[in-house]
Amino acid sequence: MRILITNDDGYLAPGINALIEVFAPIAEIAVVAPDSNRSASSNSLTLERPLFVIQAQPNVYHVNGTPSDCVHIALTGLLPWKPDLVVSGINQGQNMGDDTLYSGTVAAATEGYLFGIPSFAFSQVAKGWGELQSAARVAREIVLRKFDEFPKPFLFNINIPNLPYEKMRGLRATRLGKRHQAEGVIQMTDPFGRAMYWIGPAGTAKDGGEGTDFHATENGYVSITPLQIDLTHQEQLAILKKGLA
Ligand code: MN
Repeated sequence: MRILITNDDGYLAPGINALIEVFAPIAEIAVVAPDSNRSASSNSLTLERPLFVIQAQPNVYHVNGTPSDCVHIALTGLLPWKPDLVVSGINQGQNMGDDTLYSGTVAAATEGYLFGIPSFAFSQVAKGWGELQSAARVAREIVLRKFDEFPKPFLFNINIPNLPYEKMRGLRATRLGKRHQAEGVIQMTDPFGRAMYWIGPAGTAKDGGEGTDFHATENGYVSITPLQIDLTHQEQLAILKKGLA
């Protein structure tokens, strides 16, 4: 089994190193990850400047680009082999509901998926790396399930509660919940009197009901949501077709 490992928190982040520790003994791995924290970079590719790939260790590379850049470069020329799986994470902090649109962790897995490779995005619900080893153990177990009967490729978004392994209640197949509108931008003044802005926190769960990723993780389960990328609004397409006829 050959696994491409990546993330959006940067190649030195504890989360990616936890993945390397659990997958290196059981698979041929390559690590291609951003050289710094590129969280919330979504599916962006860097086209306005060149990208440099630095080898930090055998099979570990960092790139001055986004998570999508890393996977794209890995799959289109850097690696001498095509991975069987792409594994992204483990992210510091949840990627649930609408977060998935902004997430670099999910975007990296999406890039693998778009190249036809089964891909996994792993995130811990809370920041701070609490119970990271438990999360890595869960990640290994999920990947080893192989999902042989599952349609390929697939894109799994996985959120893991920060609980000791024994306290986790199992795996739940979920749909994405929804968040309330994000909180307001935070305005400050710089030393020169200029207004500056920080993007505020994401909203709290608006649809966190039974069956959602929010609900599963709140109740101690590991949430697995199969994602798709086609954004077409089928219902509105039908209405639009009629309206334009
Ligand atoms: Mn991140």
